Amino acid sequence: MDDLCELGGLDRAAFGDALASAGITASGAAVLWRAIWRHGFRDMDDPRLPAALRRRLAGRFVLRRPAVAVDRQSDDGTRKWLFDLARGAAVETVHIPDEGPYDVAAATGVAGNAAALTRGALCLSSQVGCTLNCRFCHTGTQALVRNLSAAEIIGQAAHARDALGDWTPFGLTGPRPRRVRPLRRVATLVMMGMGEPLLNYDAVATALRIAMDGEGFGLSRRRITLSTAGVVPMIRRCGAELGVTLAVSLHAVSDDVRDRLVPLNRKYPIAELLAACRAYPGLSNARRMIFEYVMLRGVNDGLAEARALVRLLKDIPAKVNLIPFNEWPGSDFTCSTPNTIRRFADIVSEAGLSAPVRQPRGRDILAACGQLRTLSERARRPAA
Ligand code: SAH
Repeated sequence: MDDLCELGGLDRAAFGDALASAGITASGAAVLWRAIWRHGFRDMDDPRLPAALRRRLAGRFVLRRPAVAVDRQSDDGTRKWLFDLARGAAVETVHIPDEGPYDVAAATGVAGNAAALTRGALCLSSQVGCTLNCRFCHTGTQALVRNLSAAEIIGQAAHARDALGDWTPFGLTGPRPRRVRPLRRVATLVMMGMGEPLLNYDAVATALRIAMDGEGFGLSRRRITLSTAGVVPMIRRCGAELGVTLAVSLHAVSDDVRDRLVPLNRKYPIAELLAACRAYPGLSNARRMIFEYVMLRGVNDGLAEARALVRLLKDIPAKVNLIPFNEWPGSDFTCSTPNTIRRFADIVSEAGLSAPVRQPRGRDILAACGQLRTLSERARRPAA
């Protein structure tokens, strides 16, 4: 290890403090913050930075990106990176473009390459592996578990902006075109990758504060969704301190079934979980909580269960996200049939809850949670 201070995991206040200790003024810190988090600068000796600032940074501060081990692009535009992190850790990040392309000229008032400007969601990991062992989830089968640092979490998003050319250009010359609204490729962040974000709360919160900073990465909290298996005490903190959109992995309507699918339910059963959801700040019909429901054939996909789901959620501004089970080798479950999923979705949406069925994306690149990491480990490990 070296003595350089890593800047990538510091929120704006800590960033200012670290730089102040090297004699850098608040305005110098503001210049550097924007350079790093709005424009994507990585080199602390970048000639576009003021010379006096560079002299004070030299030999003291560094900004690192996670090292890419695998970079795969699906036929449907989905892109997945596997990062090699310190201490033998590997995590996955997935970029899922919306259905595009957009009419860039109409949206921004400037001509552009529509295909290259497709918006999308970026799915970040918060832990290597996971301690929750949800029965249907592939990540739960992985042995090594550690928390990611804030730098490693926001570093996934920074790398995506590097790779997708998604930073705000530095020092645009000439008059700025009117009505410019950047069409972000990384338009939303979802904490839905490997790990349980609410069991690594401090690092996730720091990373999301960096992502939400208006002088920097610039995503509003409405553009960030955090998915949890239901760590009830942390839901309150997440709501009060971050206020991001919450997605809850419900997956069952009775404690019996949920105990089996999501063992955390034994600690925080459905009634307690839903009470915490009802108390989540800022919910309205325009800002709904998302309930994820993985469709497992013969396990949780009965029509009576669809009706029970509607009753459970009746007093929460909610949206249901039905997720076709992504099968993996050795899993105990199979995906519900398309017909069952459609009938289930109809019951939920006829009750007035929106119930989109999540389209499987990136199947050809193993975009499902945890799969790429396991595959690359097998490839690295010599056959015994
Ligand atoms: N730990 C968090 C976030 C990670 S998983 C959580 O539990 O919400 C993101 C979503 O993918 C969760 O709803 C999870 O239950 C779901 N999921 C995991 N494995 C899946 C699989 N094989 N098929 C479909 N959905 C899966």
